[in-house]
Amino acid sequence: MFYFLFDQMNPSGFFVSCPERGVGNAVIVEAATAQQASDRFEALGEDFETECSCCGPRWLEADPRDAYSLQQALSYVLPEDARRGVYVHPLNGPFYLHTSTQED
Ligand SMILES: [Zn+2]
Repeated sequence: MFYFLFDQMNPSGFFVSCPERGVGNAVIVEAATAQQASDRFEALGEDFETECSCCGPRWLEADPRDAYSLQQALSYVLPEDARRGVYVHPLNGPFYLHTSTQED
């Protein structure tokens, strides 16, 4: 299994945050393939179509080249997002909020 990082951009000048759905500035989804990760991500209620004509899209679909271990995926989260916490969605079991530790 791999972990795919969805890094939110802020078209129109705002970020979507929904703790009930496990959606924040950084979301990590466990999946066998990038396509499965994108499908699981959309099932959270987000999409890859929302965009602003000047700022671009909010989310990008998972890229097969970005299939990481959980530790690797966490290491690619921007520091300011890591401090807020990263929502991790395991394939089995409920999602959880990972907050950064000293060694990150
Ligand atoms: Zn814009």
